[in-house]
Amino acid sequence: MVCCAVRSSDHSALKLDRIAILLSGICLVHCLAIPILLIALPALGSLLFDSHSSFHWFLIVFGFPVSAVALWIGWRRHGELRPVVIGAAGLVLMVLGITHWFGDAGEISATVFGAVVLMIAHILNMRQSMSGHHAG
Ligand SMILES: [Zn+2]
Repeated sequence: MVCCAVRSSDHSALKLDRIAILLSGICLVHCLAIPILLIALPALGSLLFDSHSSFHWFLIVFGFPVSAVALWIGWRRHGELRPVVIGAAGLVLMVLGITHWFGDAGEISATVFGAVVLMIAHILNMRQSMSGHHAG
């Protein structure tokens, strides 16, 4: 028990940050594993590749509200706008990737980049939330 005056709303906000990081991580592993699988196990790779977009839609449908709420609560608490701006950029990149804005081939790179940016935003958000108890 290091710190203690963390309110329960703080805990649930941090939990949302963790869920968002986890979802981004799942996407990263998934996006990075597919090209490797396509080479190593073409059958399994193409099976996953076919369902690639639907998996991303699933992640974004779950991840978008989780990220938005976590970043919003964080911003209200620590007053630092950076995580919100970075997180919004990450989400936009992921959505652009999933909607094939950069073409079919651009989906993976845009989504991977967006997921990394989103993870950074949530890590910053958690750090700010944990160090900035004075706000609120
Ligand atoms: Zn992915």
